[in-house]
Amino acid sequence: MTDTRLDLTRIPIIKKILASRWLQWSLVAGTLPFFVLAILTGLFGTPAGNRNFGIVFVWIVWWGLLMLVMVPFAGRFWCAVCPIPAPGEWLQRRSLVQVHERGKLFTLGLKWPRQLNNIWLQSAAFLIVALFAKVILTTPFVSAVTVLIFAGIAIATSLLFERRTFCRYICPVGGFIGLYSQVAPIEVRVKDHALCATHHDKACYIGSEKGYGCPWLIFPATLDKNTNCGLCTECLKTCTLDNIALSVRPFGKDLLTNKGRRLDEAYRSLMMLAGAPLYTIVFLGPWAEIKEAAYAIASPGWWLYALGLLALTLVVVPGIFFACVALSKFIARTKASSRQFFVEYATALLPLGLGAWASFSLSFVLVNISYAWQVISDPFGWGWNLFGTANWQWTPYLAGWQAYMQIPILLIGLVAAIAIAFRTTGEQRGSSQAALPIVAFCVAFTLVMVGLNF
Ligand code: SF4
Ligand code: SF4
Repeated sequence: MTDTRLDLTRIPIIKKILASRWLQWSLVAGTLPFFVLAILTGLFGTPAGNRNFGIVFVWIVWWGLLMLVMVPFAGRFWCAVCPIPAPGEWLQRRSLVQVHERGKLFTLGLKWPRQLNNIWLQSAAFLIVALFAKVILTTPFVSAVTVLIFAGIAIATSLLFERRTFCRYICPVGGFIGLYSQVAPIEVRVKDHALCATHHDKACYIGSEKGYGCPWLIFPATLDKNTNCGLCTECLKTCTLDNIALSVRPFGKDLLTNKGRRLDEAYRSLMMLAGAPLYTIVFLGPWAEIKEAAYAIASPGWWLYALGLLALTLVVVPGIFFACVALSKFIARTKASSRQFFVEYATALLPLGLGAWASFSLSFVLVNISYAWQVISDPFGWGWNLFGTANWQWTPYLAGWQAYMQIPILLIGLVAAIAIAFRTTGEQRGSSQAALPIVAFCVAFTLVMVGLNF
């Protein structure tokens, strides 16, 4: 089979940059000041969210970059530059850049419980954030405290557990970035698996004088999808046989492998799918009662809203999908288990969900991004005017065109989802008609998203 990948490590300047120990430190050094400023402005700045750097930069600028640029085009690149786990990792290493004692880590080194060796905890953390999202995303103090809580948990986890246990098993953002990163046209993989099989020092996992063992607890030779690789480039430094490549590849390549598909990831893709229309309703919809209920935590309206959110994400949407899967199984007349069918077909939901979140994010960003000009000049909302833009007025960009830009994004996700549904049917050796209930589910979901945006 033709190898459609382009190994970027063959380009000498890129290889040199990737091999440098300064790379990751420099990337995090670029994001950390913004992170600190976002927390300081959240704690001490104006309570008006749209005039506060913490809200505007985290939930509009960062979120837009994440969902419209980083995840679709660079997968887990955000995790390579994310400042949240950095202090804990520096403490573990007792170093900002260089390697001490062949990558020895200063941590209690506890093993993460086997029962939690999945993304259920991350999904629960995501749901908790989603329940309070309206307040977290609009109230600077609450937003700053939330981010601080995650940073505190990340540091504590680094001191207690191995490596980046926080990123791998706890971070609510990491869970869905990992899932959608399978679509991205970039990957870290070993070049020659046979070489790994005969090479006993396994420096990529254990560490060497050149770098640390994979912080994400992966043996790179087993990587066949992007989900858990944080693109930290550590293995490109530690591998003594120069057997790791960072490659550009076709979009969605991981979705074509049926290895390692799991129930926790399938369920999470349904939760994410249900989340996209919910966020569209709560943040962009015309229904003031729902927005007020989402904001008024612990009020009777909020309890109703919370119940609705939990029911939709945990029961209704997964239930409808499961019914479609059951129908597919019936049409296919196969002996494969329902669980296997559910997990296999859920792969189709990844491009569909990514398209839905990108569509929501595009509209959300275009409506709100003009607040960024104000907060650049006056991050705390204290009346500063550092760059002369503090009084620029709020203007929704491309108003009237947004929906027309969202439709192609939704359609790309839908077409990819349908293609994967038919491919899955082929893998199951069923007739192509067996894919139709899944296709109907994907089409109905897309119509709901289109309806919410027009
Ligand atoms: S998993 Fe979360 S905390 Fe870890 S690097 Fe990614 S976004 Fe940051
Ligand atoms: S596989 Fe390599 S690039 Fe990916 S997380 Fe592990 S060390 Fe980092």
